[in-house]
Amino acid sequence: MTLGLRLRQPVYLAAGLVVVVCFVMLFFSSVRELGLRRDALKAAEIDVTNLAQSLVQHADDSFEMADSLVIGLVHRLEAEGTGPVAIARLQSDINFRKGAMGRVRGLFVYDDKGRWLATSENVDLNAFNNSDRDYFKYHRDSNAPGLLVGNPVKSRSGGQWIIPASRRFNNPDGSFAGVVLATIDASYFADFYKRFDLGPSGIITMLQKNGVVLARSVDNETSVGRDLSNSALIKDMHGRPSASVYYFHSTFDGSWRLAFYKMSDRFPIILVATESKDEVLASWRQEAIFRMALVLFLISLIGGTGFYLVRQLLERQRIGAVLAAKEADFRLLAEESSDMVMRIGFDEHILYVSPACLRILGWSAEQLTGTPALAGVNPEDLPHVQETVRSLKLGEIEETKLIYRTRHRGGGEIWLETALRATHDTNTGRISGVVAISRDMTEHKHFEAKLATLASQDGLTTLANRRHFDERLHTEWRRAAGDETPLSLLMIDVDNFKKFNDQYGHQAGDACLKAVAKALAAEARRPGDLAARYGGEEFVLLLPNTDEVGCASVAARLREALDALNIPHALNPPTKRVTVSAGGATGWPNADAANTHLSLVAAADRALYAAKHAGRDRFVMSGQVVAWRGAESA
Ligand code: GH3
Ligand code: MG
Ligand code: MG
Repeated sequence: MTLGLRLRQPVYLAAGLVVVVCFVMLFFSSVRELGLRRDALKAAEIDVTNLAQSLVQHADDSFEMADSLVIGLVHRLEAEGTGPVAIARLQSDINFRKGAMGRVRGLFVYDDKGRWLATSENVDLNAFNNSDRDYFKYHRDSNAPGLLVGNPVKSRSGGQWIIPASRRFNNPDGSFAGVVLATIDASYFADFYKRFDLGPSGIITMLQKNGVVLARSVDNETSVGRDLSNSALIKDMHGRPSASVYYFHSTFDGSWRLAFYKMSDRFPIILVATESKDEVLASWRQEAIFRMALVLFLISLIGGTGFYLVRQLLERQRIGAVLAAKEADFRLLAEESSDMVMRIGFDEHILYVSPACLRILGWSAEQLTGTPALAGVNPEDLPHVQETVRSLKLGEIEETKLIYRTRHRGGGEIWLETALRATHDTNTGRISGVVAISRDMTEHKHFEAKLATLASQDGLTTLANRRHFDERLHTEWRRAAGDETPLSLLMIDVDNFKKFNDQYGHQAGDACLKAVAKALAAEARRPGDLAARYGGEEFVLLLPNTDEVGCASVAARLREALDALNIPHALNPPTKRVTVSAGGATGWPNADAANTHLSLVAAADRALYAAKHAGRDRFVMSGQVVAWRGAESA
């Protein structure tokens, strides 16, 4: 567990780093975007501030212009009175000025009862009375001398919204004599404000200090005269500075708006310029979405790549751990095994060899590592071993087993049984070399050889046994047929041996048989000759490439050798020594295809029978060997 954790730590570090990088990117991008958003709002605030300041200036100028006209008339009226002559002059003066009043729409003079005395409008003076107007009541009731900018009213003469700017004029005794009024169309301001671009929902509004709308760049007709005294701006006006930026929730369209208001220093009016916050931030938002999309794309790219790489790393580590465990298992098995485990590289040099090599080859693992793997192989076996290794490396075979001889450090030669298997590179899957597991087979081989000998030997006499003789007879017969050489067979039977046993005992009989066998073996002089015990006290001598003459001379030599042994046998008259009868036969396997090896045995047997019949202790040579039904069926 701790090992796994330690292995994985760098991976988690890398994963953590990727996460941190992504978060840092996201954090700084967000901070930057918020900064840009602030900048966009700041720029818009500066714009509306500048605009509202200019518009206040414009409004001040407008009302000042109206006031200068009003003041002029007030002075004249107070100086000249409201007599018919003075009024007629005044009217003509107003008529004269009419074309040059600029933004001032109309001039009006009312007497102390609200009756029209003079005006710039072409109307019947007697048709109207303005004593009901707020501004009129104000001036009548208050002797304040200043200009009053009154609530907007619908013009009695033109029907449009007008903003009244008025002063009172007095009789010489200071009592109220009437009102001089100048009007400016609310639409004049509205049209003027429309020229400024504050975005589709940008609005410029001129208000009375008490909250009544004087002019508005949008929906002027329906907005003018509206009382906004309940709005937050007007309600808290007392505590406010004379100019400020603020944000509010619009009562007109319900949107969040950025606004700047400025109060006039000279007149009781407030200019408010507002922009929709959404519109102010629109271009920033569009760019921010694009930039953030890019950042998120990059983050997901980095995150995705990081995630992929981390997974790859973990997978690689997992495989590495599995391989390490496998390698450890391999080593454990290899080192504990009594077999010699060898890992051979593609260059046929030893990469690894287990400690069992010391016992099996006499060399230590350190001494063998890095040396050629096939160095000690017996030259006779080497081509086959090399060919097998080559096939494994080419992928022609996956695994195989070999038995071959190799040198031991002590100088001798040992037999190895080796299982070979191709190894594959875990990354590329290509064959990287060979694993060889070798077992010392020397003892086994010796045992095998011994068994083979035992299987073909007669236990008592150590001559070849009957089975071995039969095999050899068969092969020699075929060879003789191929070589067109003669094959002779000598069949020997000890005379009256039953009686020998009876006389001297069975053990003496065995010893006698051993002595006869030894003499017989001595006569098997040529490498191909084979002396065998045919059964009981019967022996055979197979003589390849030997004709009748050769066979007869071997028989004669054998009888001489047995004579020389001079083993007493009281019940074997007339010599009273151990004697043998022998029958010889010579075959020419190619001469008659009908002949078989069995006919050779049958012929020799008949000759032996003839020797016995003729009185024993003699050799009879068979005539021409011919097919004999009796022998074949025997
Ligand atoms: P002949 O001259 O006609 O061959 O007479 P014989 O007594 O030799 O013939 P027979 O075949 O009747 O007897 C063979 C005897 O050989 C019988 C058996 O007791 C003896 N014998 C066979 N094998 C062995 C053996 O392994 N050891 C001993 N001691 N005797 C054996
Ligand atoms: Mg016999
Ligand atoms: Mg006998």
